Amino acid sequence: MKTDIQIAQEAVALPISTIASQVGLSATDLEPYGVDKAKLNWPAIKKAMASPDLGKLILVTSISPTPAGEGKSTMTIGLGDAINQRLHLKTMIALREPSMGPVFGLKGGATGGGQAQVIPMEDINLHFTGDMHALTAAIDTLAALVDNYIYQGNEVGLDPDRILLKRGIDVNDRSLRQVTIGQGSKFNGIEHKSSFAITVANELMAILCLATDIADLKQRIGLMLVGYSRAEQPVYVKDLGFEGAIAALLANALKPNLVQTIEHTPALVHGGPFANIAHGANSVIATNLALHLSDYVLTEAGFGSDLGGQKFMDFVSNHLEKKPDASVVVATVRALKYQAEGTTDRLNEENLPALREGFKNLERHMLNMKNYGVPVIVLINHFATDTQAELELLQNLVRDQGIDARVVDYHEQGSSGGVEAAKAVVNLANTGHVELQSTYQADDAVKSKIAKVAKKIYHASQVEYSEQAEQDIDELVKMGKDKLPVIIAKTQYSFTDNQKLLGAPTDFTLHVKGASLKNGAGFIVVTTGHVLDMPGLPKQPAALDIDVDNDGKISGLF
Ligand code: ADP
Repeated sequence: MKTDIQIAQEAVALPISTIASQVGLSATDLEPYGVDKAKLNWPAIKKAMASPDLGKLILVTSISPTPAGEGKSTMTIGLGDAINQRLHLKTMIALREPSMGPVFGLKGGATGGGQAQVIPMEDINLHFTGDMHALTAAIDTLAALVDNYIYQGNEVGLDPDRILLKRGIDVNDRSLRQVTIGQGSKFNGIEHKSSFAITVANELMAILCLATDIADLKQRIGLMLVGYSRAEQPVYVKDLGFEGAIAALLANALKPNLVQTIEHTPALVHGGPFANIAHGANSVIATNLALHLSDYVLTEAGFGSDLGGQKFMDFVSNHLEKKPDASVVVATVRALKYQAEGTTDRLNEENLPALREGFKNLERHMLNMKNYGVPVIVLINHFATDTQAELELLQNLVRDQGIDARVVDYHEQGSSGGVEAAKAVVNLANTGHVELQSTYQADDAVKSKIAKVAKKIYHASQVEYSEQAEQDIDELVKMGKDKLPVIIAKTQYSFTDNQKLLGAPTDFTLHVKGASLKNGAGFIVVTTGHVLDMPGLPKQPAALDIDVDNDGKISGLF
């Protein structure tokens, strides 16, 4: 069987201007990066955003991830191809840019799989159009400017031990989680502790994904909380005057990137916060642009309904020009059997009792999405090892709950692997006006917001706060910032904060460890359990399979 990268490399890309013409854009609207990638330029973005029409928005999320694989990006891309190429409806796909860290770690690439991929996959997974590098440069320039400010006199009396900004790098590097900088001679700066988060978890990534234009980008950067002065006063980036320079570093990265699928459907791949430690959706500017340019937009919220799904519904959608018209929950027979058994050992054998037990995980995810008031459909991503009896059982279990379920095989067959399913999704999106029911009210206090997400979405019975979390929340109240939306950082593997508890646990305690203000992004990050904003590499990193030949051809990205 061919690998994802082999299939992607054999695909013949059309010139990016031909792809752009599908949605009414011309070559002069583009800033090409080679022949098969482009950024849209500002005049084109502004013109498109001024058009009055908006397409239908279809949100793809999934069950809790397992090592058995779910294929959410594969389904998003395959569905987009089916709607575009088989139903001949004007469609765009809006996806996150992969972070390089996980590409070399556990996960591999993040551009779909099999016949349902965005290309050029090596570029998109590695340096692409440089957005991640621009972000990393912006994050570290800001950190350097702050340290230099302290070194050069520190008029506002910023306390070096209370700097909240982290440094960034798009590499899984556990040894950078806690560092001491400025060691040695006094000419090396003021010695203090610092830490690195992976680029995609940094507030600047969130800001890039929320900003509507350069002015908004600059204003949000100015609002970022740097830390506290020795007099206990908050110090913001705008107090130090760095927002213009940092916005200048990011201005190009704010323009969405246009690429294509293997079947030539236009795709905007732009911005990439993780859904476990950040808000988990591609940029608002790309999704809004796609809504103006096409009639159907497929977008993805990372991980399950408890992470990307919840964050999309309660937070991201408030920044979009419209709420989702339909939601797709992706599941696989294999992953649900894993939810019941907790091992990959017997996934190739038919196991109806395990599937029935593991279904509880899907059931909770699909009902969570339904409770938002958005029409839901389940797509079952077909794997070669699934038996007919398993597929029928799973479809029946979903349909018994009044939700449609379709088996699709976009991975093996491309768009032809699910034309009827694409029709069902389109019909669902066309059903009419959606009244989204948020999990919490905007003016709920922070603990009330956390409790509502914990109880309604995770099904926890209570929330416990560490001493640190209590202090953090007191500080938020003191600053008058405790009414902002919450972005809960939690393991993706479980509804609980313990990654080992699979299925659909109830009656558990959610442990809140801390809460930090992301004032420029406009939310509070609430950390739970043992979740980290800088991943490590596994014993056998994906990097060991990655290579390049003397012609520059890369292999082993997947
Ligand atoms: P997610 O978005 O859920 O992380 P991806 O769509 O990136 O998942 O897919 C992860 C991997 O699983 C990819 O290598 C992809 O080729 C593979 N995959 C997805 N669907 C199937 C399938 N039906 N059969 C075999 N492999 C699949």
